[in-house]
Amino acid sequence: MALPGREPTMAHVASISVECADCGRNRWWRPDQLKRFGVTRNTPLAALSGRIVCSACRADGLPGATVTIQAAFIDERQRVRSEAQMLSDREVPLEGARRA
Ligand SMILES: [Zn+2]
Repeated sequence: MALPGREPTMAHVASISVECADCGRNRWWRPDQLKRFGVTRNTPLAALSGRIVCSACRADGLPGATVTIQAAFIDERQRVRSEAQMLSDREVPLEGARRA
């Protein structure tokens, strides 16, 4: 649980979403998959941006640093899931579906 005055760290996180603005890829990582970025359980969430890059862009020789990072917290996982369920009940137009 993220306590007031305590910075949330990777220990509170169930998974991390990384969406790349350059190539449009979006994928979820488990915390243990982020070790190669130097991310451990003690890494504050605020330190994630700048560490995590898009591996697909990196493979193409691009910086891959234009990523949006979202965290799914362990304690909120249930709530996030139920919200996602509610959202999928509605017709939600997908942003970014248009591609040049
Ligand atoms: Zn990318």
